[in-house]
Amino acid sequence: MPLQTTEAIVIGGHNLGEADRIIPFFTRRLGKVRAVAKGARRVRSRFGGTLELFTLGQLVFFEWPNRTLHTINEFSVIEPFSPLKEELVRLSRGAYLVELAGAAVEDAEPNEEIFLLLRDALTLLVSHDDRKLLRTFEIRLLRIAGYLLELYRCLVCRSAIDQRGELAISPAKGGLVCSKCGVQAPDKLPISSESLTYLRSVLVGELQESLSNPLPSPHSDGLQEVLRVCIAYFLGKSPRSSAFLTRCEQGF
Ligand SMILES: [Zn+2]
Repeated sequence: MPLQTTEAIVIGGHNLGEADRIIPFFTRRLGKVRAVAKGARRVRSRFGGTLELFTLGQLVFFEWPNRTLHTINEFSVIEPFSPLKEELVRLSRGAYLVELAGAAVEDAEPNEEIFLLLRDALTLLVSHDDRKLLRTFEIRLLRIAGYLLELYRCLVCRSAIDQRGELAISPAKGGLVCSKCGVQAPDKLPISSESLTYLRSVLVGELQESLSNPLPSPHSDGLQEVLRVCIAYFLGKSPRSSAFLTRCEQGF
């Protein structure tokens, strides 16, 4: 029974039996890992309050061969991201980030790039509580996961996109289609030139720096809708936390 050690973020949790908890983690080295915290609900549990949602820590666990549920040996907190749990809008945004990151990979499929994106986004969410961080996270996540790859050429005819013409993104094709090929992409959604510039600009560089790019106006533009549909297409469903997020952002 090998002992594994890796940096990990708590992305959920539910009770098991009388005293235990099952904790899903997004780990740096091993992708998503589900493990039991024995006795976590006892008053004098050695885990204390460490296994709360969003907490980043060093995880040591016993890996059971041929099983999907392992056993936590130790979890030492690096950063609890406490401010994310103190206010409802931040909590809903954080919940959305961890759900998207978790849904983007299969169990035990390592993806360090997504782990680092999630870790950086939770860190920034403490000080940059806004929609821009969410949009940047969505765009980068889709790109890392291998979707939304083409933002310069038409995915059908491969011609370079003229940003002055009609612009559209096909969720099924995962990128741009030109006005001539639009008929071959019936699912296409219009996108403004401003939004396309934004999509391209936030894909590179440090996450924090990309937050200085101005977000296209939500009223004149379909960026959020395009991303919503692309995410639902990529995941095969809408994220559960998105309805909660919308209600929190609108103040219920
Ligand atoms: Zn075309």
